[in-house]
Order: sequence, then C-alpha cells, then structure tokens
Amino acid sequence: MLSRNREIFDLLAQKHGDAHCELNYDTPFELLVAVVLSAQCTDKRVNAVTEELFKVADTPEAFVAMPLDELEKRIYSCGFYRNKAKAIKELSASILELGEMPSTREGLMRLRGVGRKTANVVYAVAFGGNAIAVDTHVFRVANRLGLVNAATPELTEQGLMEAFDEDMWSRLHHLLIFQGRYVCHSRQPDCAQCNLTKYCAYYSAHAGKDEHETV
Ligand code: SF4
Repeated sequence: MLSRNREIFDLLAQKHGDAHCELNYDTPFELLVAVVLSAQCTDKRVNAVTEELFKVADTPEAFVAMPLDELEKRIYSCGFYRNKAKAIKELSASILELGEMPSTREGLMRLRGVGRKTANVVYAVAFGGNAIAVDTHVFRVANRLGLVNAATPELTEQGLMEAFDEDMWSRLHHLLIFQGRYVCHSRQPDCAQCNLTKYCAYYSAHAGKDEHETV
C-alpha cells in the first residue's frame, strides 16, 4: 500500500474518530431494511421512519405478511417508496425461502431486492466483514482525493480494494462517508476545514479557483 494512502487514512481517522454507521438497528435484518430505505435519503429520516416501522414489523415474516400498500405508506417519506417497499417484500420472502438471514456478502447479494452496495454495508457493519460499500459520498471523496480515478461505483470499489489493505476497508468506508457528509460536501467542499488539502487532487486542481465546482 502506498504511504500516501496510509497517510490519508490516518488523517481521515484523526478528523473522524467516531465514524460509524448512523442507521439505528437491533438486528442484521433491521439493518438490511434500513440500508434499503437509506438510498437517496438521509440516515436521520430513515431512523425516524424505522423507529415506528420496527414497532409493527421487524422480521421477514412480518414484512411478508404486511400488505404492500401499508408498507408503502409507512416508508413513504423515505422517497422511492414503491421500489423500496417492493425490495423489502422481496428480500423478506427470499430470507424465508432460505430459512435464515445470510451472513456473507455473496449470500446477501443473492437475496432478491439486495444490490452490491447494500450487501457490502450489511456484511461489514452487521457481520464484521471486510467490504467497501460505495455510496455517493465514498464515490465523490475517493475520486476527489485521487485515491481512485473511476467512472463508476463498481470501479471505485475495486480501486479502493486494491489501494488499501483488506483490514482497512470497512473503516475506510465509514471515514469516507463522514468526510463526504460533514466536510467534502457535494456542491461546496469545505476545504478550509479539511486536513487533506496537501494530498487532494481536487484541491490541487481548484485551489484559488472555483471550489464550488462539483465532481
Ligand atoms: S481538500 Fe476539499 S475537495 Fe479535497 S477532500 Fe478536503 S474538502 Fe474535499
């Protein structure tokens, strides 16, 4: 691993010592549902919705039994509620068919309604696996820093896995999310508050110019 990457990792850890999954959950299944709901939605909103939702349904059996229109109403404020309700019904039915909640990334990805990013988050956070889930923050920050130069989330994940030791992947995922959420904003990165300017490709290219340009 390049010493530059190690230094970036250490500076991110210095800045975001408490980086962690901000979704509330009690079981791996609840986390899976929360991650599905979190697409294009804030964790704060998801937590407000799941606080009520999990009181009436927190198992695959309960979501299979819940009428689709009721589930849609309960998760409406998370956005994309039709697709998300369908995904939750399908992943719940898949788990019942399997007889158990999978604990590997491959097993999670075989569930209907579960994509790679969701599987990576649940595998890493609920089961302690090594994985880098690439959401919008990870994609933007990794490319701005020049850790990767990748056109897609899949290529970003691959590039980060090659650039960092495996036991750093899950921590890196949370550090990049916190960096994107609290410092390296999409439209207006707060470079003045960032301890990574020395290493940042975006900053080098834009210092003294328009820092508001988006990647
Ligand atoms: S220097 Fe600016 S663009 Fe680079 S990571 Fe920090 S906030 Fe983002």
